[in-house]
Amino acid sequence: MKTCAFCATEIHKNYCAFCEMDLKDRYILNNGERIKNTIDYIPDQSEMFKNTKELKGVPPTFRKFCTLSTF
Ligand SMILES: [Zn+2]
Repeated sequence: MKTCAFCATEIHKNYCAFCEMDLKDRYILNNGERIKNTIDYIPDQSEMFKNTKELKGVPPTFRKFCTLSTF
């Protein structure tokens, strides 16, 4: 059974009725699997107010997490 990676609802033709959106292939999983939503890197307090230029040295996973708003 194809299910939404965000809410685990069964989907029909890439559309999740609960989330009310079309899902890209990577967000279509099986039998209620959820997308992994872990943070590999916890920023130091001193980094929280730095601008993007200053954060260029921060690991890519965290930068991706901060800039994506796919929900
Ligand atoms: Zn959903």
